[in-house]
Amino acid sequence: MAYAWFSLGGNVGDVDETFASARRALRDLAVTPPRVSPMYASQPVGGPDQPPFINQVVGFRPRFSPHATLRGLWHIERDHGRSRATEVRWGPRTLDLDILIWPETVSADPELTLPHPRLLARRFVLTPLATVAPDLVVPGTERTVAQWLADCPDTHWVKRLDP
Ligand code: AMP
Repeated sequence: MAYAWFSLGGNVGDVDETFASARRALRDLAVTPPRVSPMYASQPVGGPDQPPFINQVVGFRPRFSPHATLRGLWHIERDHGRSRATEVRWGPRTLDLDILIWPETVSADPELTLPHPRLLARRFVLTPLATVAPDLVVPGTERTVAQWLADCPDTHWVKRLDP
């Protein structure tokens, strides 16, 4: 099975430490060590006035089904201080985990849409994804990640943090 791709985002607390801990937890959902993009800072899209987000993308061969994996992501978010009960939509958060791409999968149900419904509209996910999987053809489209990034209309800034 090919790699599935996931995004990490956060702008509350020690995000470096949160991401390191979340990446360790993600290993339970994987059968391969993760491939990890550089970290980026990005301008928040929508929501209240808030600090920049930190973003990263990881990929691995998944151990479980898409839905079981999504539940695993929710678990990890909760373990890292995420509270869906109190947070504002598009607002500040300690950790947001999304499934971006599942190998050869296009699907939509009330809980899970694949590829992620906002993948192609968000420079802050396409940019890190293009560093680790530029030639990946986005399922349901005939274009690669790098091609989608080149044409992405999103004008919010995205800045690479580590070399
Ligand atoms: P968010 O607040 O951005 O993490 O959005 C979470 C909501 O999006 C949950 O209710 C999920 O069921 C739904 N969702 C739909 N597709 C996906 C996906 N590909 N990855 C993660 N969450 C998804």
